[in-house]
Amino acid sequence: MDKICIDELKIFAHHGVFEHENINGQNFYINAVLSVDTEKAGMHDDLADSVDYSAVCALLNKVMTANTFRLIEAAAQTAAEAVLSEFPQVKNVEIEVRKPEAPIDMEFRSVSVKINRGWHRAVIALGSNKGDSRGYIEQAVAQLCSCSHIRGVRCSELIVTKPYGYTEQDDFLNGAVMCETMLSPHGLLEFCQSVENSANRTREIHWGPRTLDLDIILYDDEIISEPDLIVPHPDMHNRQFVLGPVAQLAPYYRHPVLGATVAQLLERLNKN
Ligand code: ADP
Ligand code: MG
Repeated sequence: MDKICIDELKIFAHHGVFEHENINGQNFYINAVLSVDTEKAGMHDDLADSVDYSAVCALLNKVMTANTFRLIEAAAQTAAEAVLSEFPQVKNVEIEVRKPEAPIDMEFRSVSVKINRGWHRAVIALGSNKGDSRGYIEQAVAQLCSCSHIRGVRCSELIVTKPYGYTEQDDFLNGAVMCETMLSPHGLLEFCQSVENSANRTREIHWGPRTLDLDIILYDDEIISEPDLIVPHPDMHNRQFVLGPVAQLAPYYRHPVLGATVAQLLERLNKN
């Protein structure tokens, strides 16, 4: 994708672990690389089709001067989130915060933190079979919608399904949402777990009754196999109650391991 680059934006601010840094302040320098599709702006020569770099500089200045962070990590994170939130055309942003006057008792040129944040597409499956299932799921969707790290939430219809795995329990209400998120896969998992916890979720029987279950089904085209996170969800292709709602939202989303679209996986499952 095309890039808009801001080099060595100088900002006097008060970030640091030491009190004297918070009181006296020092110079910081920001490098920012924004991924933006500039084709339309390039063809029409119109700023309205692009991102106004002076407005981005003003925003970076505001983030850096309206806050006192201990860490340049926090300064970079807050700056990246602000750019992604306030400039929807920016798909990805690389932010480097440089601190050449950092309190280090040796000769050095500069220390810096460089981070990369962007919008990623994600599909999350929702389920509940205990208590006010519809209320829990609606509450979860509302929490996803109001999260500042998530945008463009679309929700499938909710369907009633028979329990899977452990069958001695009540029917489930299932659905799915598709969204964009600036959270990493693990950040999104943590957020989903906090939403589950807010619905008084307890973990007794594996696959047993639950007030609310949020599973990450797909995240971009990423393939993740870690002890606490597997994406795509390892059983999604065997579950009608996942594929049905997801096919409503994203029939052409292609499973990055199996190579088939969600609609094809659903058709295969229905045949068997
Ligand atoms: P299940 O959803 O399989 O019924 P739980 O909701 O109790 O079970 O989740 C158990 C663990 O599954 C979680 O602590 C989480 O770390 C792990 N996990 C692995 N992959 C995923 C995923 N794609 N989405 C959500 N949780 C996952
Ligand atoms: Mg789960």
